[in-house]
Amino acid sequence: MTTARDPGFVAALGAAVRGQVREAEPLARWSTFRIGGPATVLFPSGPEDVASALRLATERQVPWFALGLGSNLLFPDEGLDALVIRIGKGLDRLDRDGDSWRIGAGMPQPLAAKRTAAAGWGGIHKMVGVPGSVGGGVVMNAGCHGAEWRDVITSVLVLDPDGHDRVVPAAAAGFTYRRSALGRVVVLETTVALHAADHAALEAETDALYKWRRDGTPFNQPCCGSVFKNPKLPDGWADDAPRTAGQCIERVGLKGHRVGAAEVSPMHANYFINTGDACAADVVALMREARARVADALGLVLEPEVKLIRADGTFEDLSE
Ligand SMILES: Cc1cc2nc3c(=O)[nH]c(=O)nc-3n(C[C@H](O)[C@H](O)[C@H](O)COP(=O)(O)OP(=O)(O)OC[C@H]3O[C@@H](n4cnc5c(N)ncnc54)[C@H](O)[C@@H]3O)c2cc1C
Repeated sequence: MTTARDPGFVAALGAAVRGQVREAEPLARWSTFRIGGPATVLFPSGPEDVASALRLATERQVPWFALGLGSNLLFPDEGLDALVIRIGKGLDRLDRDGDSWRIGAGMPQPLAAKRTAAAGWGGIHKMVGVPGSVGGGVVMNAGCHGAEWRDVITSVLVLDPDGHDRVVPAAAAGFTYRRSALGRVVVLETTVALHAADHAALEAETDALYKWRRDGTPFNQPCCGSVFKNPKLPDGWADDAPRTAGQCIERVGLKGHRVGAAEVSPMHANYFINTGDACAADVVALMREARARVADALGLVLEPEVKLIRADGTFEDLSE
């Protein structure tokens, strides 16, 4: 199999796009965990570059991986053989037509939340503390404080692996809790229906939510946010028993516990922190330990929210 590390592929990619191509780029720089080895990374200048890269990768059977702000994934220490297509500037439009907003996948969610709120439009303002891109938010159906992307999305513009674009109506996007079923696509933009509201009230709300985030979570430390999804609770689960993933991990005594340089945050047990030079294996070992301890003590299965990435850009299942 040809990989994206192949010099011939890198040269062909460089000739096919206007954006920058970096070889052996440390992925730790592009992940909020600050973990991950080298890969070939394309910083596309616009949608045409993404389409050209996908066409080339598909033609040469090179695997590829769409990266947003890297706030919900764990890259392997050996890096990726897959081509990393980093969706950011150049794909960060924000336009309004009536109550319908088109938002580029490369725009950071906090910025989209603040700019729409400042213009007097509510609906995504609660995303102010979710530090990913809009594309990553759509793919993950990110959410907080009771709001999720699926509440407002009307459609998603995607590129298929052959470089052709396609509009996916919200009903066909398969949104569930912290997941979508968009499949092997690159999200270019989404169209959302927002509601007009008083901008001062919205801005006061976003300020308060942001403060809550900053004060209640290890927000500015290297991490990926919530490591596990909140578990499904069996019928009759006691009111005073732990309910969230963080409460479960805290209940089994793992707050502050470390494997290598990966630590269960003493501030919030569902946040695992890279305290310095943690490697992916440290984080995975800590996840396995938390999962096993919670299953033994509470009989609940914790499913990862963070995506564990294999060298070929596919996802690893923790139960394997
Ligand atoms: C401190 C902190 C707090 C957080 N709080 C929350 C929270 O409250 N709620 C919440 O839901 N999440 C939270 N997260 C997790 C994370 O911010 C979200 O999941 C976010 O939406 C991921 O966006 P991203 O751009 O960083 O995606 P990435 O981490 O880059 O990628 C995540 C997945 O999306 C895919 N992807 C990204 N962009 C695209 C694209 N354009 N096209 C196709 N696929 C793409 C990737 O391939 C990968 O599978 C938090 C993270 C941190 C670090």
